[in-house]
Amino acid sequence: MIYADHAATTPLAPEVLEAMLPYLREQYGNASSLYRLGRQARQAIEDARQTVASLVGADPREIYFTSGGTEADNWAVKGVARWRAAAGKRHIISTSIEHHAVLLSTKALQEEAFELSCLAPDAGGFISPEAVLTALRSDTAVVSVMYANNEIGSIQPIDKIGAICREADVPFHTDAVQAAGILPIDVKAQNIDLMSLSAHKFYGPKGVGALYCRRGILPQKLLDGGAQENGRRAGTENPALIVGLAKALELACSHASERAKRIAALRDLVQEGLLAIEGSQLNGGMDPRLPGIVNVSFSGVDGQSLLFQLDLDGIAASSGAACASGSVEPSHVLLALGVPYAKAHGSLRISLGAENTVQDAETIVRAVTEAVALLRKRQSASL
Ligand code: PLP
Repeated sequence: MIYADHAATTPLAPEVLEAMLPYLREQYGNASSLYRLGRQARQAIEDARQTVASLVGADPREIYFTSGGTEADNWAVKGVARWRAAAGKRHIISTSIEHHAVLLSTKALQEEAFELSCLAPDAGGFISPEAVLTALRSDTAVVSVMYANNEIGSIQPIDKIGAICREADVPFHTDAVQAAGILPIDVKAQNIDLMSLSAHKFYGPKGVGALYCRRGILPQKLLDGGAQENGRRAGTENPALIVGLAKALELACSHASERAKRIAALRDLVQEGLLAIEGSQLNGGMDPRLPGIVNVSFSGVDGQSLLFQLDLDGIAASSGAACASGSVEPSHVLLALGVPYAKAHGSLRISLGAENTVQDAETIVRAVTEAVALLRKRQSASL
């Protein structure tokens, strides 16, 4: 099988599994317990917190472990909006290309009588800092703009957006789930107040993420319960997952620039091959873009059928966000870019990662070329 769906999830790095195993076996203590087994679990979690903090330029007290990117996004957006509502701030700014975890959090807030300014990207998938500046109001509670998009890979000018928000004294959240371990992150230099991470996007385990929350920003809690995570995120910590997240981020960051170059070269090979197919079109702009993602539409081809055909050929890819697959609705991101409905329906996202090779890239191009031809032939035979 050729795995070309790294934006959906990544395989667990063997070193990460090794680091996790002791906490799934003999080191099973509850980190809140006072005896040695508990203290060891606590130490592992605090070491992991220190590692994550130093990799993103934060203080360890500003890192909170969560159940994943979705929880971190929900907590940041809803938690900060509700906190700031107490001071009369009931306006939020976000974008139409966010992951559903942010998009639906802002929708939920609208039902709580928050007002939303939803910024549209340009045709390349980029959000302009000027649009954020224009949308800011004296009652803006929070701004949430993702670092890199999961469907087309576009990278947003978050440093500039962060600076604008800081100047206006409005908390700025960025969903860095697709960026972490690939792009440089320095929360202080980039003026980020809150940032979501998810381990399974950087060769770590599923079901664990982190929220960076700058000191002084006090999002309301999502969960009532124990006093874990400095009293702000209830629930017994999972040391194995937390240790895995930290190890995975450390590894990914140490390989980041060399990996990005290699993967971008493979992505360019795939892109060139796919755009040579008649009736194809690149979705989103070229740069700045994540190194591994290429999103292409093929006229007269249904994305789901293309995925099934590729699966028969042993290739795992996606036709948009993984969580949206299975639904027949075309991707909200492609529609936001202005891609026509029919073309958005015929889209294919290839997302390459650390273990892909030149041979994989060539096989993918060959398989997609043949699959598109076959599906078009079937389509015209059925007319
Ligand atoms: N944000 C982005 C940009 C994502 O790509 C994803 C995962 O697809 C998430 C958030 C959700 O993260 P998780 O799968 O850890 O809940």
